[in-house]
Amino acid sequence: MKIEVKKLNALGKYSGSFKFDYSPSEKMCVIPLCEVKDSVKVSGSYEIYKDDSVGVILTIEYDISGKCSYCLKEAEKSVVFTSEILFVTDDDDENYIYDGIKIDLTTAVNDAILISQPSVLLCEAGCKGIAIT
Ligand SMILES: [Zn+2]
Repeated sequence: MKIEVKKLNALGKYSGSFKFDYSPSEKMCVIPLCEVKDSVKVSGSYEIYKDDSVGVILTIEYDISGKCSYCLKEAEKSVVFTSEILFVTDDDDENYIYDGIKIDLTTAVNDAILISQPSVLLCEAGCKGIAIT
């Protein structure tokens, strides 16, 4: 999951797309008793600008499975999330930094997985939780 910016620049390929599967670590799911099922599908496109900054549009798709946060029944949810990010060679506290040679997308993909997660997983919309009788 790397974009070889220097090489692509030399080849005159200033834009393109990518697609790969990524297996995140188990800790990537922040919802209790849930996990990211199988791998995360990552796709997107990049554009290399004249100042060596690189704009990336990143889309991730994955399923979360585990226990409903309210009633503990088995539950599952699909997530699709797109973010537009910029990689720069000088740290500006706002964008991702890279060395001007190649971009490693791992951190950006991990961040996208964290940002895109719902705070709870529900078996169905409006689950009322465990009924106390
Ligand atoms: Zn439920």
